[in-house]
Formats: sequence, structure tokens, C-alpha cells
Amino acid sequence: MRKPLILITVFIVSLFIGCSEQSSRPNDLLNAVLWMQQSSEYEASALQAYKIAQNLLDKALADKNWTAALEQTGDYAQLPPAVILDVDETVLDNSPFEANLILNNASFSNTLWDKWCNEARAEAVPGAVEFCNYAAEKGVTVFYLTNRRQHLTEATRRNLQKAGFPLSDKTETVITRTDTGDKGPRRHKIAENYRILLLIGDNNGDFASGFTKAPSAQRHKMVKDYRDYWGTKWIVLPNPSYGDWESALYEYNYKLPETDKRALKLKKLRL
Ligand SMILES: [Mg+2]
Repeated sequence: MRKPLILITVFIVSLFIGCSEQSSRPNDLLNAVLWMQQSSEYEASALQAYKIAQNLLDKALADKNWTAALEQTGDYAQLPPAVILDVDETVLDNSPFEANLILNNASFSNTLWDKWCNEARAEAVPGAVEFCNYAAEKGVTVFYLTNRRQHLTEATRRNLQKAGFPLSDKTETVITRTDTGDKGPRRHKIAENYRILLLIGDNNGDFASGFTKAPSAQRHKMVKDYRDYWGTKWIVLPNPSYGDWESALYEYNYKLPETDKRALKLKKLRL
């Protein structure tokens, strides 16, 4: 074989090896996404969460002194009732987006995320549609409070509608992010006009302000401080794929290379 031909062959073979290495590179998302997509345990957990929510809703409706929002102040007993749900991994299942990240060895980017959101094809989390419609039929306004950016409001509304979620025609119930990712101020605003019966989310920032971008230790302390809320006024859905729980492990330094994030995560393992 002539020398250039050998070189070309070596190049092509190494390219193939490179490709197969690429597709089999370990990815921390793999088990998490498969659990959400394939395990009957995830499905059961979500149904369980929404069943609890449905049972609590009636109780909350009847008790005019009931509020689930720490931001609710003043005389709220006569305000119309509302529930506040987060969107991603609470009512909409974005696991196909995560699955694509795994297969393409890609990391989260706003460009990829916007593209996925604009497709508006996320399916509903099990139990979510039934719960939201149950609430709406009882005259409860259903708010979707999300940290999706404002330019995704229309696409989000379209996706929610397509998936069967109730949307109000009287008031804007899809509340996206304008400035801060802290949902406290937006909850406060809703609480000025509605009595908040329940908060439902997958990230603890969906329940109280202090969780957002806080260190793990503080997040754990807050869980204990609000012990009485879990399962009574606040309903949490499991999300092992992403969230502040994971970002806290690398101190919310999103720009760190994946290998550095992984090194920091390994240090957090309890032995
Ligand atoms: Mg979420």
C-alpha cells in the first residue's frame, strides 16, 4: 500500500473510533432520564403526588384561612382561590430534550432549549392534566409559574393547551421569567388577588424564595424549617435530571466544563 493511502486509512479508522467513543461516553443524565421515561416508579410517584394534591384541594377550598404561599399576607380569606404549579418537570415532561442531550453529547444551551420549547410537543407529567382540570372545574384558577423566559410564553401556552391543560381566558395564567429566577416576587403578585391553595413543583424554589441558588446545606435546613408544609400545602415531584439540587453541587457555576462539574460532584459522595 502506498504511504498516502495508509495515512488516509489510519485517519478514517481513528475517526470511527473517535465516533464510537463519543456515543458511549458516560453521561450523568443517562440513569436519571431513563428513570423518568421508563420506570413505572416515576409514573407512580407522579400519580401519587397529584392524587395527594387533589385530596388537599377540597380541604383547602373549604378553609378560608388556608394559604400555601409564604408571600400571602393581609386579608386574603375572601379572595378567589388559585393553585400555582411550576411547568417543567411538574406539568410538562421535557425528558426527550434531555435524551437528545445524552445522545448528542451536548450540554444544556439556551439555543437548544428555545428550539425544544418552540416545538411545543412536551407531553404531560402523569396525573397533572387530571388535577389541573379538576381544580379548574371547581372554580380554582390554575397558574403556571415558570422560569422559562418571557419570549417562550406563547410557545408554552401552546404546549400546555395541546397537552390538555386548562388556561384562563380572563387573566394571564402562564407567568414566565422577566428578571429574577426567584419566584417569590411573582408568587407575591398572584397572592395579591388570589388565595393560594397549593404549590406544586419539582425544584424547591417553586415553594419558597430562600431555596433558589442556595448552598445545599441551606436548602436542607429550609426543608426542615418548613416541615409542616410538605405533603400538606406543598407537593414535590421527583426530578433526578436537573435542578438547583444539582447546580448546588458545583456552586451554580454553570460555565464550568462538564469534567470539572463531575469532579466536584464526586467529592460530594458520602462514604
Ligand atoms: Mg421545574
